[in-house]
Amino acid sequence: MIANKVLVVGAGVAGLSAASELADFDIDVDIVELSDFPGGHAIQYTCKATDQCVKCGACMVEEKLGQVVKHPKINILTGTQIKDAMKSENFSVTLLKKPLFIDPEKCSSCGICFEKCPENNAVIKGNSKNQTPFYAISDETCLYLKDQSCTICQEACPEGAVHLDARETTTTAHADAVILSTGFTPFNPAEKPYGYNRFKNVITNLGMEKILREAGRIRLPSNGDAPKSIAFIQCVGSRDAKSNHLWCSKVCCGSALRMAGLVKARQPETQITFFYMDVQTFGRDFDEFYAKIRKEVRLIRAIPGDIYPAADDRLRVTFLDNASSETLQEEFDLVVLSVGMTPSQGMQKTAGILKVQRAETGFVKQTDKGGVTSEKGIFTAGAVSGPMSIPESIASGGAAAFEVLKYLGR
Ligand SMILES: Cc1cc2nc3c(=O)[nH]c(=O)nc-3n(C[C@H](O)[C@H](O)[C@H](O)COP(=O)(O)OP(=O)(O)OC[C@H]3O[C@@H](n4cnc5c(N)ncnc54)[C@H](O)[C@@H]3O)c2cc1C
Repeated sequence: MIANKVLVVGAGVAGLSAASELADFDIDVDIVELSDFPGGHAIQYTCKATDQCVKCGACMVEEKLGQVVKHPKINILTGTQIKDAMKSENFSVTLLKKPLFIDPEKCSSCGICFEKCPENNAVIKGNSKNQTPFYAISDETCLYLKDQSCTICQEACPEGAVHLDARETTTTAHADAVILSTGFTPFNPAEKPYGYNRFKNVITNLGMEKILREAGRIRLPSNGDAPKSIAFIQCVGSRDAKSNHLWCSKVCCGSALRMAGLVKARQPETQITFFYMDVQTFGRDFDEFYAKIRKEVRLIRAIPGDIYPAADDRLRVTFLDNASSETLQEEFDLVVLSVGMTPSQGMQKTAGILKVQRAETGFVKQTDKGGVTSEKGIFTAGAVSGPMSIPESIASGGAAAFEVLKYLGR
């Protein structure tokens, strides 16, 4: 049988799933990942189990990543993007790789570079034990890369794994088919009247995932105290005519309610209010979970208009009361904005290079067969074609792999 090779662009859960399905069919796979770590958005999510599993899907990503990094047929290239592509019989793709400041062969993940670095966020930590190296150097904040004024991490590394003078490299890869799995970009809520980036205690759901993953309990960014009251605001940047994002992001209600359930289980004294338009569900057994969470969380069917600062870094939220048609105001310690999924910013240039058509929404357009794009030999997997949950992204990765196998005549 002829040896085939497939290029997967984007190492989120969808790309990882497609890659592992293809590799199990003895196909060589190169995965190109723009960021320093594989796993996409979902590798950063926290498990939301309380006394029982709530089927949030977070653990599935860790499992997929674990399978992929060990697979002998899969090669992951992090910090890499497509610079150019040509297609004749197969694809010839020019890849641009960021400088490899930390040598994965030498790094033992001891964390000394992270501890010794004097600049905030200049050495970045990964999110999973399956990410090696577990540290990366940020080209935005590293002092050496700015003005060569600091080499502390390089001197401190006991393995000699840090090379601050590394240079970017260009290579060529060949592939018989390409899977585009560049995912989504979270909506930036700074344009909404909710004080994001201005009020310390306004965070996004992704920010809350990070706090819960790292600390296990929710604390106020302003002073580290446990919040007594939290408001979740749904549909920030979804179903929103003002931002021209008319789609529902599908996963935010389920994810926010599961997060609320986790907070109630660990910090039962916290009062939680959930402002929503319609509750969208995903995952198995959601109805059972919803019946339980409705008793623990106050649900208000309204999307707040504005947020004003109040004393002690509290937040005054205004909303229209459906029953009385009056505008009401209520204060909370913490506001969590459930930001929606928008077309991936990292995909814009790559889609252009690969000449893949996009829909009016900005997501990649598929033909009526899932995963098949306007370009022969190029397929999509996951949220690059529209909002989906983790289980849907895994299934979509499997479907894309199936289409590729058909395309290759396997
Ligand atoms: C706030 C929020 C909470 C969520 N919570 C849940 C939940 O609890 N449960 C659930 O099931 N789903 C949840 N989801 C949905 C979940 O995040 C997605 O289903 C999943 O991340 C989609 O995976 P993906 O691989 O398609 O995309 P992504 O996770 O976005 O991964 C795409 C990857 O492609 C890379 N990339 C981008 N551009 C390029 C490029 N040009 N070249 C190379 N690589 C590139 C990115 O760096 C990234 O690593 C949530 C979504 C949001 C917004």
